[in-house]
Amino acid sequence: MIRVLRVEAIPVPFRLTEGYRIAGHTYTSAENIVVKVDTSDGRTGFGCAAPAPEVTGEAPADALRALLDQLIPLLRMSDAGDPAGFARRAPEAAPAAPAARAACEMALLDLVGLRARVPLVRVLGIKRDRLPTSITLGIDEPGSTLERAKRQVAAGFRILKLKVGENWEEDVKTVRLLRQALGAGVLLRADANQGYSEEAARRFLAGLPPGSLELLEQPTAASDLQALRRLADEFELPIMADESVLGALDARRLVEARVADMVNIKLMKSGGIGEAMEIARVTQAAGIGAMIGCMDESRIGIAAALHFALAAANVERADLDGHLDLADDVASGGVLIADGHVLPLLDRDGLGVSVNL
Ligand SMILES: [Mg+2]
Repeated sequence: MIRVLRVEAIPVPFRLTEGYRIAGHTYTSAENIVVKVDTSDGRTGFGCAAPAPEVTGEAPADALRALLDQLIPLLRMSDAGDPAGFARRAPEAAPAAPAARAACEMALLDLVGLRARVPLVRVLGIKRDRLPTSITLGIDEPGSTLERAKRQVAAGFRILKLKVGENWEEDVKTVRLLRQALGAGVLLRADANQGYSEEAARRFLAGLPPGSLELLEQPTAASDLQALRRLADEFELPIMADESVLGALDARRLVEARVADMVNIKLMKSGGIGEAMEIARVTQAAGIGAMIGCMDESRIGIAAALHFALAAANVERADLDGHLDLADDVASGGVLIADGHVLPLLDRDGLGVSVNL
């Protein structure tokens, strides 16, 4: 048994270089909690939590409390060589803190890779070595959005994720403008973050020329699965569930009721890679596509999300841009962005991150 000798939970406030707006929220900063685990074999693993009350109901203070009161004591009793064992017990200890749970499991998995002297994705079973990623454009007036879009295309990105959901008419204008200006080589996906009423979503979808978008994420309220299902039934454009699916139980419910065409998997929602793998299995079995998404999070979390995605057969889409906006990340390495693709560092062990803490 590899013992956990010491665990630290370190709150890290990040400034965002640009900041952005989504339906219902404006972000200018992000608070992560880095979990640092020292083990009896002389190694140190890192994980990070990026709690988001509007997505998981878990504020940074809740995540920190869950770590200090429940999860760190559980880690100290756990075999560091058995992340799955920890992940099985963690939901009972901290049911409402998935981001905090994810951070702990992430540090243990980093350690598994370090001990095996391979990148984590080799432990999980590598299926591919890179994914094209979208880059997010917050809600803004159409002209500014187009300007930002052109900058990202010039930087090599070929998939843009447009935040929509506050005003469907403006959103249709923005999509049309970008679609005309950017040409066929650029894919557009949209995310309404629950902002539309069912009727507004219907008008937005009906207002788009065919082929404008690749998919629409979470048009309506997370809890209203029937509205999602009706939209997915009525329109050809794939509807992706994000806020409606946190863990595998939600994924099973979604699959059984055929509520959406695709799912956005995030480690901060699922509580870690083990549960994310279960969501991937459940959706794959039902022929439902999956994307790996993220919050505004350190390269530690982005690397973990990528290693998971590269090992999950049906995760063919990525939206892993959350680290690019941080003005002062505490980690380096972990992932590379090249030609609009996100790549792991396959010559480094574990998550491949260097953390300055
Ligand atoms: Mg989303």
